[in-house]
Amino acid sequence: GRSVHQIQSGQVIVDLVSVVKELVENSLDAGATSVEIRFKNQGLDSIEVQDNGKGIPPEDFDTVALKHYTSKLSTYEDLTSLDTFGFRGEALSSLCALSKFYITTARTEDGAVGRKLEFEISGKLKSNSVVSAQKGTTVSVEDLFCNLPVRRKELEKNVKREYNKVIAHLHAYACISVGVRFAVTNQMPKAKKMTVFSTKSNATTKENITNVFGAKTLVALLKLELRLEMEPSSGPSTQSARNWSTQTSDRSRKVQVQGYISKPVFGEGRQAPDRQMFFVNSRPCGLPQVTKAVNEVYRSFNVSQMPFVFANLVMDTNAYDVNVSPDKRSIMLHDQTALLESLKASLTELFEQTEQ
Ligand code: ADP
Ligand code: MG
Repeated sequence: GRSVHQIQSGQVIVDLVSVVKELVENSLDAGATSVEIRFKNQGLDSIEVQDNGKGIPPEDFDTVALKHYTSKLSTYEDLTSLDTFGFRGEALSSLCALSKFYITTARTEDGAVGRKLEFEISGKLKSNSVVSAQKGTTVSVEDLFCNLPVRRKELEKNVKREYNKVIAHLHAYACISVGVRFAVTNQMPKAKKMTVFSTKSNATTKENITNVFGAKTLVALLKLELRLEMEPSSGPSTQSARNWSTQTSDRSRKVQVQGYISKPVFGEGRQAPDRQMFFVNSRPCGLPQVTKAVNEVYRSFNVSQMPFVFANLVMDTNAYDVNVSPDKRSIMLHDQTALLESLKASLTELFEQTEQ
C-alpha cells in the first residue's frame, strides 16, 4: 500500500510546475549562474535540472533528501524575511517518494569528481558512488508520480497543458534572473533534442525578454518605472491591517513597479495571459488582483486585448506575507486596496502621456 510519506509528498509536489519550480529555486538558492532544464517527452519521461552552483557537501549526503531537512533556515527571523526560496526541506524528500530520483553533485574543491546519490522512497541515502561531474548539482526526476497511478494518469492526460504552464513559469524565472543563464530543452521520443529557449548570464532584463519572447515583443513596450505612494488605508480595517499601519514605517507605503508593459495601441495587444509576469522583490508570484487592475486600465484605453506585462513590485518585506503553505507562491499584500488604487492611477497617467 501507499505510505503516509507518499501521500503527504503528493501535497507538496502536485504537478509538473511544482517539480520544476522547486528544482530551479534550489539551483538559484545554490548561487548558480547557469541553470539547464532538460525535459524528455515534456517531462513525462524525465525532468533534469543541472546547475553550476555550490554543490552539496559530503556531510549532507545522508540527510539532504530527508523530510524537513533544509540547510537554509536558521532562525525564525529567516522564516519571515526569506532570502532564499527554500526553507521547508520538503521538495527533495517528496520527489524521492514520487519518482525515480537521483542527484549528481560536485564541488569545486573536489575537482571533476562528483557523486551520484540514490535514495530510498523515504529519502534515506541508498547509494553514493563516484562519477565524473562538473561543478554543481544535477537533479533527475524520472517517471513522475509512477507510484500514484491516478495522479500519473491525470498528468499523462494533461501533459501538454502542464508543460506549457511550466514553460511560462520558466520564462518568468529566466527573465527576472539577471546574471543567470537559463537553457531549456525538450526531447520527444525518437526525436532530436530541441532548444525551447535560452538566455545569457551577462544579459539585462530587457535582453532576457528579447531572448525569450522575441525582438518583436519589445517594439511595442513601454518601460514601467512607477513610484507608488500609498495612503494609509481608511475605512473599516481588519485587525492585521490596523496593526500593520501602526507598526510599519513609511517605507512600507512606498512601492516601486519596475518592468515593461505593452503600449495601448489598438490591434497591437495580444490575448496572452502567458505573457503576464508579476514578481514581488524579484520572486515570481501570482497576483490576481494586480493583474486584473492592470488589464482593466489597459482596456480602458480602448484596447480589447491584454497587454504583455513584466512587472516587479519592489517593496518593504513588512508590506506582505509569504504564505507558509506548500504553495509558497502566494503572497498576501497587507494594503492591497491602496496599492491597487495607486497603481491604477499611475498606470493611467503613463498611458495618457504616451498617447500625446
Ligand atoms: P529547501 O529548499 O526547502 O531547503 P529541498 O528539499 O528543496 O528543501 O532541498 C533540501 C536541501 O538540499 C537544501 O536545503 C540544500 O541544502 C540541498 N540542495 C537541494 N538542491 C540543491 C542544489 N541544486 N544545489 C545545492 N544544494 C541543494
Ligand atoms: Mg527547495
